[in-house]
Amino acid sequence: MSTHTNCLVQNCTQRPYAPAGTAVACKEHFLDFLKWRRRKGAQMFSKYAAMTMPERDVVAVEWVKTVRVE
Ligand SMILES: [Zn+2]
Repeated sequence: MSTHTNCLVQNCTQRPYAPAGTAVACKEHFLDFLKWRRRKGAQMFSKYAAMTMPERDVVAVEWVKTVRVE
């Protein structure tokens, strides 16, 4: 199902901006997700690009755990 009307980060009410796995993230969180992947190194960055959607979901879930919403 891809009926996401909100960012995948819990309690975030921003409008969806770009996909993160099968979910979507708002602009701010999407950029944060990019930064997080970049911090993990170039290998992770290119690996993610080659991943299937279910594999991307695993990465996205791992990242979401690091996000803090005020
Ligand atoms: Zn968000």
